[in-house]
Amino acid sequence: MIITLNPLTKKIEVEQICSQLKHLEIEVNELPHRPDISLLLYGVITEDKLEIIRRLPRVVRTENIQMPYHRASKQLHPEASIIQVGNVKVGGGHFAMIGGPCSIESPMQLQETANYVHAAGANMIRGGAFKPRTSPYSFQGMGQSGLELLSEVGEDLGMPVVSEVMSIDQIDLFDNVDMFQVGARNMQNFDLLKELGKTSKPILLKRGLSATIQEWLMSAEYIMSEGNEHVILCERGIRTFETMTRNTQDISAIAAIKKLSHLPIVIDPSHAAGKRDMIESLALAAVAAGADGLIIETHPHPEEAVSDGEQSLYPDQFTALTEKVWKLHQFMKTL
Ligand code: PEP
Ligand code: MN
Repeated sequence: MIITLNPLTKKIEVEQICSQLKHLEIEVNELPHRPDISLLLYGVITEDKLEIIRRLPRVVRTENIQMPYHRASKQLHPEASIIQVGNVKVGGGHFAMIGGPCSIESPMQLQETANYVHAAGANMIRGGAFKPRTSPYSFQGMGQSGLELLSEVGEDLGMPVVSEVMSIDQIDLFDNVDMFQVGARNMQNFDLLKELGKTSKPILLKRGLSATIQEWLMSAEYIMSEGNEHVILCERGIRTFETMTRNTQDISAIAAIKKLSHLPIVIDPSHAAGKRDMIESLALAAVAAGADGLIIETHPHPEEAVSDGEQSLYPDQFTALTEKVWKLHQFMKTL
């Protein structure tokens, strides 16, 4: 439940109300993101207690929490969140254009990719060092040495870097990585989410292959409930009956998230389409629909890529797309 206090309530009075609520065995948190003075109440609130709460001095309104994802919901945080990732802001009108290979394969491959991603005007680099592959016999990623290459390249170019963390025991290896990616397959790995919630690093939370929007927001809530509010959602396509694409890009997720949550949403058309020649169309559609960013796979020689080569853009395609993305993003602001 949320209670709203008279706007003239003094700090000392808020403290008194909090201690009265604690006497009723109700846990209280202030809600700094609301424009009014509001308190979030947790615990069993019986009819009797509700009557006492309503009669407390300065209480002008009581409202029920509408969504099970409290911290991710707009009710507690009406303004769009702006998440700081290294020197880049994401959300609230700030756009992330993230590019890089599916897997980090070698120093040369990563350096070459990062150079043209940077020159194209992207503002963040992606690269997988721990890879969740469908087959245990496929390349599993370079691991720690891949993360080291990624952070060095990012630092040289002055660009933040993002990489996927697959398990709790890997978290400490990400000290020099600017943002954790939680992959689609780990969206409901609640132990991992809780542990990441204890860090203060931003998290790119991918939507599970078959997760509903509510389940996805509940996963964000797992992270946020532990104290880390720096969550960016990433729609990467969901499983449908369609086989023409690898997954189906759910464009409506953008509208839904904007309605329900203050968290930024980034679109990954690479894993949605699974095919290089569809990426541009899906990427531009996402920008027009109000996405706060894109994450796109690209490789200097996609036909030689060890993973996701078919969906990786050639350097010239990435460069041309990035230019169009920025133009469209600017244009959308003028509408
Ligand atoms: C990836 O980003 O390379 C990846 C494995 O993504 P997803 O978790 O969306 O499949
Ligand atoms: Mn990939």
